[in-house]
Amino acid sequence: MPAIPESALTVAYLLAAVLFILSLGGLSRQETARRGNIYGILGMALAFIATALDPEMQRWDIVAGAIAAGGIIGAFLAARVQMTGMPELVALLHSFVGLAAVLVGMSSYLNPIQEAASPTEHTIHLIEIWIGIAVGAITFTGSIIAWAKLRGSMSGKPLLLPGRHFLNLLMLGATVGLAVPFIQAGDPQDGLMWMLIMSGVTAVMGMHLVMAIGGADMPVVVSLLNSYSGWAAAAAGFVLANDLLIVTGALVGSSGAILSIIMCRAMNRSILNVVFGGFGTADGGGGGGEAVDQGEVVETSAETLAGELKNAQNVVIVPGYGMAVARAQHGVKDLVGALQKNGTKVRFAIHPVAGRLPGHMNVLLAEAGVPYDIVLEMDEINDDMPTTDVVLIIGANDIVNPSALDDESSPIYGMPVIEAWKAKRAVVFKRGMSSGYAGVQNPLFFLEKTRMLFGDAKASVDAILAALRS
Ligand code: NDP
Repeated sequence: MPAIPESALTVAYLLAAVLFILSLGGLSRQETARRGNIYGILGMALAFIATALDPEMQRWDIVAGAIAAGGIIGAFLAARVQMTGMPELVALLHSFVGLAAVLVGMSSYLNPIQEAASPTEHTIHLIEIWIGIAVGAITFTGSIIAWAKLRGSMSGKPLLLPGRHFLNLLMLGATVGLAVPFIQAGDPQDGLMWMLIMSGVTAVMGMHLVMAIGGADMPVVVSLLNSYSGWAAAAAGFVLANDLLIVTGALVGSSGAILSIIMCRAMNRSILNVVFGGFGTADGGGGGGEAVDQGEVVETSAETLAGELKNAQNVVIVPGYGMAVARAQHGVKDLVGALQKNGTKVRFAIHPVAGRLPGHMNVLLAEAGVPYDIVLEMDEINDDMPTTDVVLIIGANDIVNPSALDDESSPIYGMPVIEAWKAKRAVVFKRGMSSGYAGVQNPLFFLEKTRMLFGDAKASVDAILAALRS
């Protein structure tokens, strides 16, 4: 494999870093997201080629084998994953970054690439290794727990051990304290022992931190772990003295942190409380289940609803996780077209944590070709609810639950929601009376003005379209 000079490598890394920044900038708006993705792909391709041509690259056979195995597994997983399974996949990928940082730190300690020039440099390198392993281990186990909670293999209920904050503090103290004997260890075997003990402590800490978070706060946890994985990659970059890895890790770490803060604001949570757990203390479980009845609900039919929609001037659609499950977005887009043809004003109300992925609903609506200008954020549309004739709640539940505003015992208490109950008519599309992700019943379903349209969201939307056209 031909090698390129060190200076060309630096230029290539710099260009790749600029492309990553342009990519993030592009991804911040729907209209430019596609361009952002292309910048990201170009940046990664450039980084990959430059690394392959690095003069220090010696064992191409091992690297090529690892790339082939990783590439095949990655392509297989990406091709198979459903849109609704993306958060689990993302959590799993974060865990790989964490594990990689741990392994990079350990191998760099046991098999240093180059000798440090001075004792101070050696100590700094050991600290880099220590931080890389600590952040990596927290990211690894925290992401595995998040993955298990998201896929429903583990209860979404928060595990609130007595004295959990003290426990976290103790583990943090041990992580910092154990660095002293590690740095002072003369024999690598002793150093390895301290490193393994600290990895165990931080692995338990990662599990404990994520287990303490309730199901309804999982969106913030996913973006927080995204941020941790970035910092773990940056730490690995310091260990390997790789500038591009440091820059890329810092970009992922800081953008993940910013997203976590934005989501915390949207959910009215304090970031510190989510980091250290303790929300969602009431009975809440991810994954739904049969919820307690609060009275009688009134059912409607596609034909009756089509009649109401024909007379409506103003319609708001609130899409949720169920729209993604049913893959109803294309039908919804056709429904919008049919209503607009009839002179009805139709807009979408998007809650920041609708679905199972930040921006989940925006992605689905963009895929179906819904124009961006009728897709509004919750804050932009909530004030218009009282003048809305019909609000169609398509596979959404927690994000339109009024108990988030008035029931202090609810696990979602304090989270701003789309105030669908203020519209003249609220119609809920769902299959049965199961609760949403937070595991709580929704009083909106039992209001006099609410109608339930039971069935798969796609089948219901298609039936309304047929009734509107006939
Ligand atoms: P919810 O999970 O609260 O509700 C979804 C509803 O869709 C359910 O009540 C379900 O009822 C219904 N549904 C499921 N499948 C279908 C189908 N095929 N047809 C019709 N209805 C269907 O979703 P929301 O979007 O309202 O709220 C998101 C929740 O997920 C929040 O609690 C949020 O905190 C959490 N979360 C969000 C993440 C994010 O990043 N956005 C990440 C992790 C969690 P039924 O079974 O009766 O049909």
